[in-house]
Amino acid sequence: MHKALLNQLLLDISIEPQGPILIKERAPDEGEDAAGKEQKKKRNDKYGEPDMLFVRIERRAPGGVSRLEPFIPGSSLKGLLRSHAERIARTLNPANGTCDPLGDGSTPFGMRLSCSRKLDKQKKELQAKGSKMSPQEIYSSSCPICRIFGNASLRSRIDVDDAYLAVTASPVVQPPPPLPGEQGDTSPWWWDANAWQSADGGYFPKRTNVAIDRFTGGAKDKALFDYETWRGGFHTRIVLRNFELWHLGLMAFLARDLSRGVLRIGYGKNRGLGRIKGMVKEAEITYYGRDLPKSNELWGIDKMMVDGNKYGIATKGPLTLKGIPQMDAMEDMGYGRVYRYDAQEFETISRTAAQYLVEFIQNL
Ligand SMILES: [Zn+2]
Repeated sequence: MHKALLNQLLLDISIEPQGPILIKERAPDEGEDAAGKEQKKKRNDKYGEPDMLFVRIERRAPGGVSRLEPFIPGSSLKGLLRSHAERIARTLNPANGTCDPLGDGSTPFGMRLSCSRKLDKQKKELQAKGSKMSPQEIYSSSCPICRIFGNASLRSRIDVDDAYLAVTASPVVQPPPPLPGEQGDTSPWWWDANAWQSADGGYFPKRTNVAIDRFTGGAKDKALFDYETWRGGFHTRIVLRNFELWHLGLMAFLARDLSRGVLRIGYGKNRGLGRIKGMVKEAEITYYGRDLPKSNELWGIDKMMVDGNKYGIATKGPLTLKGIPQMDAMEDMGYGRVYRYDAQEFETISRTAAQYLVEFIQNL
């Protein structure tokens, strides 16, 4: 739905681990099969490769050197946001706040069939009658969380970028000694010869007490296994397109809970790993078109669409912002307008928009 881009929210976010985190990497030649496991064991014996590695990406460092850096894939962050959004929606309206994305109808209590499965069934029924579902029907029959995060029949309208190291990351002063290796093979794929660390305490690669933790494995074999963790800061961006005002309200709740540092990501959540804190540094709202809001107003797409009611879009706006100064950083692009807000202004906006979410979800 919404082929035209009407409005967009962009959030700049810093992520600070509140302890060690681990987003697991699968080695290139590592599969579930016996051969893959054998490869892994070989590298483990030979180089001391940890059993679990942090996911890496090759990037150019500030000094111009290309290196393998730890990062948090956008899909992991999006998954974290989605499952927390589901919790929020379920709290506001246990029966209708959200579907259960894994719900296949077999769960005995409370959980709803996933929208993907429900829509698939409805589409097939209509197909049998030679008819089909319109994009409007798909949007309005999806639960609030699917309307933002998408499902098998509906495109997501939120994008989360991969989170990369903050620019403060710099090479280590004294690199650790090189790994023992055979001739011409001193550098296994996961090892970054240009070892470095971030100013906020992250350190790679392993072979240091800071970065490595050891735990016993399953109760059966009591085998020790080791893994890499990381504590340095990251930076990411979230983009939400064609938002309704209650979507902004959900972003407000998500931003608040991220800033409290209680959400966990990645491996070992029940071992105390993965706690992160996310802070909105700057927010930018862009409106496209010729009929545009004043600087003390927030418009959801209902104000900008001619056929909004067909989509079941809440017609609530515009929202008048109190305590937000006239935007002097406003940019007029001819076909649209950009408003920029600092962290505090965004908090004021989101607190105001939060009421729309509560009202919308509770009345479903
Ligand atoms: Zn859903």
